[in-house]
Amino acid sequence: MANSERTFITIKPDGVQRGLVGDIIKRFEQKGFRLVAMKLVQASEEHLKQHSIDLKDRPFFPGLVKDMNSGPIVAMVWEGLNVVKTGRVMLGETNPADSKPGTIRGDFCIQVGRSIIHGNDSVKSAEKEISLWFQPEELVEYKSCCYDWIYE
Ligand code: UDP
Ligand code: MG
Repeated sequence: MANSERTFITIKPDGVQRGLVGDIIKRFEQKGFRLVAMKLVQASEEHLKQHSIDLKDRPFFPGLVKDMNSGPIVAMVWEGLNVVKTGRVMLGETNPADSKPGTIRGDFCIQVGRSIIHGNDSVKSAEKEISLWFQPEELVEYKSCCYDWIYE
């Protein structure tokens, strides 16, 4: 059960436009997490507002929605042991300037408003966002051939 924890990861429009989709996916693949779902989507403003509803009172909310709406994004679900927490570590800090080299934000971006990737900070928000972006049948069940080489 713990090995099937899931997180919702999005490559934002800046990450897509800069051609970082492959590099970002590669990090999750090489870590050993399992890709459960993925789509390239031009999200509507309404959908993006819903997605970030918890941040609606923050001053950066309008800018965040505008940025997320400025081009296609890659929406993904990744699965694995502690994937929510580990995914956040792989992302780096909210401000790329505070993100260590080796993290995605630490390696690929400079400013908080161009932070190239979104990831959940709790299992609860992961569940909520996965169901906002994907239909149940889009979440693909299969066993990775590496499973027994990744988990004890
Ligand atoms: N954001 C921003 N300015 C800020 C804080 C956040 O533009 O001062 C944007 C940024 O794109 C960030 C997103 O809002 O990724 C969501 O903010 P959150 O605090 O959830 O950070 P994250 O979870 O992405 O690290
Ligand atoms: Mg957040």
